[in-house]
Amino acid sequence: MTIRALDDETIRQIAAGEVIERPASVVKELVENSLDAGADRIDVSVDDGGKAGIRVSDNGRGMSPEAVRLAVKKHTTSKIESLGDLSDLGTLGFRGEALHAIGAVSTLTITTRAVDHERGTELRVSEGAIEAVQPAGRAPGTTVEVTDLFASMPAREKFLKADATEFDHVNRIVTRYALANPDVALSLTHNGREVFSTDGRGDLQAALLDVYGREVASSMIPVDHEGVTGYVSHPETTRSTREYVSTYVNGRYVKSSLLRGAVVDAYSRQLAADRYPFAVVFIDLPGDAVDVNVHPRKLEVRFDDEGAVRERVYRAVEEALLDHGLVRSGAPRGRSAPDDAAVRPEPDPPTATEDLIEDAEPETLATSGGTDDPAASTSDTWEWAERRFHDQGTQTTLDAEPVDEATPFEQLPAIRVLGQLRDTYVVGAADDGLVLIDQHAADERVNYERLRAELDGSDSQALAEPVVLELTAREAALFPSFQAALERMGFRAAEIADRVVEVSAVPAVLDETLDPSLLRDVLSEFVAERSDSSVDEHADALLADLACYPSITGHTSLTEGSIQRLLEALDGCENPYACPHGRPTVIEIDAAEIDNRFERDYPGHAHRRRE
Ligand code: ADP
Ligand code: MG
Repeated sequence: MTIRALDDETIRQIAAGEVIERPASVVKELVENSLDAGADRIDVSVDDGGKAGIRVSDNGRGMSPEAVRLAVKKHTTSKIESLGDLSDLGTLGFRGEALHAIGAVSTLTITTRAVDHERGTELRVSEGAIEAVQPAGRAPGTTVEVTDLFASMPAREKFLKADATEFDHVNRIVTRYALANPDVALSLTHNGREVFSTDGRGDLQAALLDVYGREVASSMIPVDHEGVTGYVSHPETTRSTREYVSTYVNGRYVKSSLLRGAVVDAYSRQLAADRYPFAVVFIDLPGDAVDVNVHPRKLEVRFDDEGAVRERVYRAVEEALLDHGLVRSGAPRGRSAPDDAAVRPEPDPPTATEDLIEDAEPETLATSGGTDDPAASTSDTWEWAERRFHDQGTQTTLDAEPVDEATPFEQLPAIRVLGQLRDTYVVGAADDGLVLIDQHAADERVNYERLRAELDGSDSQALAEPVVLELTAREAALFPSFQAALERMGFRAAEIADRVVEVSAVPAVLDETLDPSLLRDVLSEFVAERSDSSVDEHADALLADLACYPSITGHTSLTEGSIQRLLEALDGCENPYACPHGRPTVIEIDAAEIDNRFERDYPGHAHRRRE
């Protein structure tokens, strides 16, 4: 093996690739620059998800011919002079690497005119080299156009996803800035079609209307408590994705499980399992209580006092919900509630926020809920809460008579049922130890495989009354790309007005029991990174979710079955060992482990005493 130095070109591209990962990263940097330039009108236009071209135009302060030449060089910025300036940073950018990095991996054309200049300048950079600089006519402001992104990096280009998915990333980024800057008129256009635009008149609720639509906007209630402001939705207006819980620290979007968790927890038990509200929540903190100097792609924020921050956000949202009679005071605190404690995955540690761009982590439809405690979901007194929950307390006593003989199974170990633990786990003796079965997870697996078998070869079931759904700008942008796929799954839906679809048929197997609004969740599912490929996978993910809908599982639910029948059905499954969401259904604690716990470490000394 020989060690050799990489040439400059390669080094530049590797470094640039760190900052610019996909079209959405370019859009993020350009929009931030426009905001930093004081623009109050920003138009973002992309083609083919940004792969074919990205253009961001603003009416900000612009650049002089000298400034624009400098701007595309490495580590050139007008925003800070040294690290000391970081603590009271008033701008989004400060590293001076974005334009340089974009120029290294694309063809970059900047047309700009400084407010105090008569004429504009056009500068073109291709693969890192300035190719042309010439005078150009333009109103004050800047237009940056990026084409041939990653043209010289085939590996990176190949990594890009379908246009609809790349556009979804762009869409989410621009939406975040639109909501954080209601005083800036922001528009987003894809392949010549306007996806949304805000009017820039400074009204956050108006911006919410522009991006989420009337139905969502009218359900939003204001939050304003001890430096935490924004809007959160009525607990009935939810989606299956966390994506609509947007949190900002000092005006910067941060993807923080700490903050999202605080918002969601404030709803206490008023959210159905695996449903997330819409929220746009801003928290202001003194500059020295947060640290923003981290990796450019990751918008990490470190809080000095996490507990205090969490508490403030929680209180503010709770206050707003209480004010509108949407939660009860003294309701048990969210995450510790037994009905969602076990299964809502928060993959990141609560100490730091996640990556800003790489945020398409699986987060839709992916978890099961309501696993543990039947009492939790039925005790609510509000009418709407009852409607949502009254079906959900399925986790009850089965006829768990201890059995004398072990039942032999095909796949599962032979199990002799000993009883039930906390109405949740079946406890059994196996040949080689103890077996615990999560009955809800087992039931889900059984139902999931049944639904999957039924869906095979079935088709659409027409609805007696077509259902009209209003979509968010994001969902509406996804709809045409996935209309055919939805149809293959059995949904028949057509766009009848801007951002409005009419659902006339649903997958037959689901028929009456299916809420047609699930179509929205399916749309998000289509672009969830973890299932980027086939319609079959999407159908599967949908089934996995439906398998735990009590309305669907009702016929065969645990209340009616017996443990014996449940185990037999589970044994008959293709994969009896995991619920459709991947949680284990069966845990074995073998004899060795039990012996070990009792410190019977070697057989000959089983009764040894400790001195
Ligand atoms: P940073 O934003 O970290 O300073 P960039 O590479 O993104 O680094 O931009 C370099 C410089 O170019 C900025 O500091 C700013 O002076 C100038 N610039 C970039 N975009 C614009 C714009 N849209 N309007 C005015 N100036 C801009
Ligand atoms: Mg910048």
